Amino acid sequence: MSTNENLKKTIVLASGNQGKLKEIAAILEPLGCTLRLQKEFFSEEAQETGLSFIENAIIKARFASEKTHLPALADDSGICVDVLNGAPGIYSARFSESGNDEDNNQKLLKALENYPNLKDRSARYICAIAYVRHAADPTPLVVTASWEGFVGFKEVGSGGFGYDPLFIVKGRDQTAAQLPVQVKNLLSHRAKALLEFEAKFVKYA
Ligand code: IMP
Repeated sequence: MSTNENLKKTIVLASGNQGKLKEIAAILEPLGCTLRLQKEFFSEEAQETGLSFIENAIIKARFASEKTHLPALADDSGICVDVLNGAPGIYSARFSESGNDEDNNQKLLKALENYPNLKDRSARYICAIAYVRHAADPTPLVVTASWEGFVGFKEVGSGGFGYDPLFIVKGRDQTAAQLPVQVKNLLSHRAKALLEFEAKFVKYA
């Protein structure tokens, strides 16, 4: 089969997030792929038992592929704070008990209350993307990217989501929540990972 024929396929996105579907479909559809959310096929969630973003992205992609017998793509992301040994890390979404953004942010501020200097509050967002051609694929396509910054002292800005109101972007005097969405979508960990994924996927699929 030629490379072009190989590229014309349905890929399952191991996520329930319509926003991610749009973002990733914009890359894959021009390559002749159709992207479909996993909830169109099944409702169970993969057990994210990995200790790294990469492991969890691969686990989610394999699970979706196993359930659907289709190639699958997953992403996993979060924020890692240096003085907290990388926490919240893979637990970013469920850092606080409730798991809502406001409680997560308050818990992060509390965890950093003994660090009054911004330079000691360095952090980065991480995004890992994994693509498997089949559930047992021994060579998943994996990319990771980061976005460097610092955890500020209070929430500033109303854009974005999650930890964005606390995340002061390195080299700018602004939080990610203060950036226009188009700017965030150029700079972010997810944007960078998707660009790298696109470049590799064209050669790999
Ligand atoms: P997910 O893997 O994309 O679902 O992200 C996991 C968690 O990481 C989210 O619930 C957020 O708490 C955090 N996170 C990931 N990306 C971002 C971002 O771009 N801004 C703010 N928080 C993020």
